Amino acid sequence: MNPAGLAGTQRLFLSAALLCFSTSGLAQTVLSATAQPAGMELRKQEIAQCLPGEISTWADGSDRAALAPSLTFIYDNSAAPVWFDRSVVMGALQKAAAAWSECGVPARVVPQADAGGETVGAIRVQWSQTGSRNNFGLADVGHRALWLGPGAFLMLEKVNPQAGPATLQMVVSHEMGHFFGLMAHSRRCVDVTSYYTNPQGQSCLVRGGAAMPKGVEYRAQLPTACDIARCRALNP
Ligand SMILES: [Zn+2]
Repeated sequence: MNPAGLAGTQRLFLSAALLCFSTSGLAQTVLSATAQPAGMELRKQEIAQCLPGEISTWADGSDRAALAPSLTFIYDNSAAPVWFDRSVVMGALQKAAAAWSECGVPARVVPQADAGGETVGAIRVQWSQTGSRNNFGLADVGHRALWLGPGAFLMLEKVNPQAGPATLQMVVSHEMGHFFGLMAHSRRCVDVTSYYTNPQGQSCLVRGGAAMPKGVEYRAQLPTACDIARCRALNP
């Protein structure tokens, strides 16, 4: 993720309601398929357990309650990249929704074709280069829109097609988190709501002050224990 891009987006729209997941995380993603260096065991522990006082954010947004007491996401597959079958994207959305529901705000995902009269108040998930502003994903909380970026995924498909499904899961989980009220990005590298460095050159945090392993995607694909703990605190 490009922290400069994130900060720019937030400045541009003067609101933390619009947040993105940019293409510059590609470097990590590209390398993650093969490398498993030391430190990945610690990553597993950081995903599974949130220690007291460990939650930390970049303070780049104002956290709040979820958009609604329960969330419905409607998935429109019409502009999806051809190599992502509808069932793959639906699967990623449903996994993310189920994982975030652990925070106490139930969420479900409905295909556009089955949405019927459920569209009022629902969050639309759509593919659009314009809507995503060339990012992998973008959460426009105010307009109840979660955009996925075909161009970013096309670029990834060219350089490392194996990374596509994992990246899709991460992007979907990250953007969905904003609708649960997590507007500030986590400073814990491992959290799905994180980004790695800010424009001032500060880095995200690994437990115990360890260095983040290089050449891997350290960020989780689904909300971590600390992501969920933050979400629960916002939605008591
Ligand atoms: Zn974000």
